[in-house]
Amino acid sequence: MKEEIKMKEMDVFCKIVNGEIPCYKLYEDYDVLAFLDIGQVTKGHALVISKKHYDNFLTTPHEIMHKVMDVAQRIGQVEIKLLGAKGVNILSNCYEAAGQSVMHFHVHVIPRYQEEEGFRLEMKSHSDNLNLPALAEAITKNLK
Ligand code: AMP
Repeated sequence: MKEEIKMKEMDVFCKIVNGEIPCYKLYEDYDVLAFLDIGQVTKGHALVISKKHYDNFLTTPHEIMHKVMDVAQRIGQVEIKLLGAKGVNILSNCYEAAGQSVMHFHVHVIPRYQEEEGFRLEMKSHSDNLNLPALAEAITKNLK
């Protein structure tokens, strides 16, 4: 059983952390590793990950999640200054339904230079048939 869990946890990012797969490293400390995404949707597209395996943002302990977000913020700041990016998208896909393909907590830092490039985030409003007061109340009640 233990072996089974170990195998399951050995995703591609675990292998990068272990040095089994190379990466273009940007930053490393005890808990956090950052490197260039192999599929650069824009120049400088970076990934910031927890070195320890957690499945995604939602299942990562607060302290580690905050450390990862801190590094994501710093990389975003550098990309504006150094690469001349006009903006940065910082996002973390959680679960397959949201587009997560590597089941190891990671945050994308995607510099934006112009409107038409390798990345587009479109948010269409679907709020017409929703009861927003009830929805807000239900979510609020369940926040710990
Ligand atoms: P997501 O779809 O949010 O799970 O993102 C996973 C990301 O990991 C994708 O953008 C991939 O391009 C990236 N990726 C997968 N394998 C590697 C690798 N060996 N080195 C760097 N990035 C990788």
